[in-house]
Amino acid sequence: MNIIASTTRKPGLIGLSRPELMTALALVDVPERQRRMRAQQIWHWLYHRGVTSFADMTNVSKALRQRLEETFDISRPEVAARQISVDGTRKWLLRLPPDDTGARHEVEVVYIPEEDRGTLCISSQVGCTLNCTFCHTGTQRLVRNLTAGEIVSQVLVAKDDLGDWPDRIAQDPDAPASGRWITNVVLMGMGEPLYNFDNVREAVAIISDGEGISLSRRRITLSTAGVAPLIPKAGAEMDVMLAISLHATTDEVRDRLVPLNRKYPIAEVLEACRNYPGLSNARRITFEYVMLKGINDSVADAKRLVGLLKGIPAKVNLIPFNPWPGSPYECSDWETIERFAEVVNRAGYASPVRSPRGRDIMAACGQLKSASEKRRASERRQQA
Ligand code: SAH
Repeated sequence: MNIIASTTRKPGLIGLSRPELMTALALVDVPERQRRMRAQQIWHWLYHRGVTSFADMTNVSKALRQRLEETFDISRPEVAARQISVDGTRKWLLRLPPDDTGARHEVEVVYIPEEDRGTLCISSQVGCTLNCTFCHTGTQRLVRNLTAGEIVSQVLVAKDDLGDWPDRIAQDPDAPASGRWITNVVLMGMGEPLYNFDNVREAVAIISDGEGISLSRRRITLSTAGVAPLIPKAGAEMDVMLAISLHATTDEVRDRLVPLNRKYPIAEVLEACRNYPGLSNARRITFEYVMLKGINDSVADAKRLVGLLKGIPAKVNLIPFNPWPGSPYECSDWETIERFAEVVNRAGYASPVRSPRGRDIMAACGQLKSASEKRRASERRQQA
C-alpha cells in the first residue's frame, strides 16, 4: 500500500528554489515569458499566505490551477501527534510521506513561546549520527537526511497550527505586537544540520526570503556539534547566527560527551569559529554548555572556558541537563550552575541559564526522539 502511494506521489513544490519553481512551471506548459511572474505568484501563496490548495490561488487562471493540481503536490506532512506543555510549549510529531522504500519516518518540531519572542525549533535529520552520550536523539540511529521541502514544511505546519499567517494574525485579538507568533527559528532539533548542508542551506533561503516567511537570517540560528571544516562555509553560504555545542573544556571530557570531538577537537572548532564571517560584538557566536553534575561543571571548567573563548565575540548559554529515560547523567545542582555562570559572566561574557521548557512533554533540549526506528522494526516483524 505504502509502495503504491510512493510511486504515485506527485512531485512537491515546497522546498524548491525560485529557479527550480520556474523549471517546474515549464513542465505544465507555462510559456517562458510568464514563468517568472507565475513563480512569483505561487511563491507568495505558498509562503506568504500559507495556502495548501492550488484552488485558493485566485490570481492564477483556472486552467493553470487545474494543471498544477494534477501535476504537483503542496500538501503538508501529516501531524501524527500534537502536545501542549503546562508552560505553553508545543510539540508536533510529523509523519513524512512514504520514501522510496515505503517507510514513513517521523520528526519532531517544538514551539517555545516567551515574553518577547516565539522560537520554533526544527529538525534537519531523522535521527542523528553523532551519538552524543547525554542526548536522547543520539540513541536513535540515523534514518536519513530531511529534504529542503521537509525542513521548510516544519515551519509551515507550525504556522498553520499557531495561526501565524497574515489573515489569521489580523483577526487574532491575542496576536503579539510583532505581528507574528514565530519570530525566531533555531536548527536545534533532531540531527546535525551541517551534515545535511545543501538541504539546510536551501531551506534557510526559503525561510528568510523577504517575499515569503520572511524571517531575517539574524533570527535564524544554526546549532552544530562542531563540524569544523563546514563552519566558515556555513557563514559564507547561509549567513545565519551560529551556535556551537561545546559542553566541555578539555578534549578528554569532550571526547566522551561529543564523540565528534575525536575528529574535530576543541582547538580546531574554535579556530573555525574565529573564521566565521561577519563576527562582531553585535553578532556573537553562542556557545552551548550542558550542565552535567560532576562531569563538566567545576569552577576550574568555567575558568578554562573563559580562556578558550578569548578573542571570540561570544555568549555562553548554560543548559541544565534534561533527563530522559535511562540517561546516564544528572543535572548539576542549581548553586553549581550559578557559580559557573558567575565566573563566565565576570569575564565579560553573557551567560544566561536556559530555562528548561516543555520537559513534561519531552520537548526540552536533547529529549527529542521519534519512533521511526521502532516502527520500522515492528513493520518488519509484521511482514515476516
Ligand atoms: N547537532 C546539533 C543540533 C542539536 S541542538 C548540535 O549538536 O548542536 C540540540 C542542543 O541540545 C545541543 O546543544 C545539544 O548538545 C543539547 N542537548 C542534547 N541533549 C541534551 C540534554 N539531554 N539536555 C540538555 N541539552 C541537551
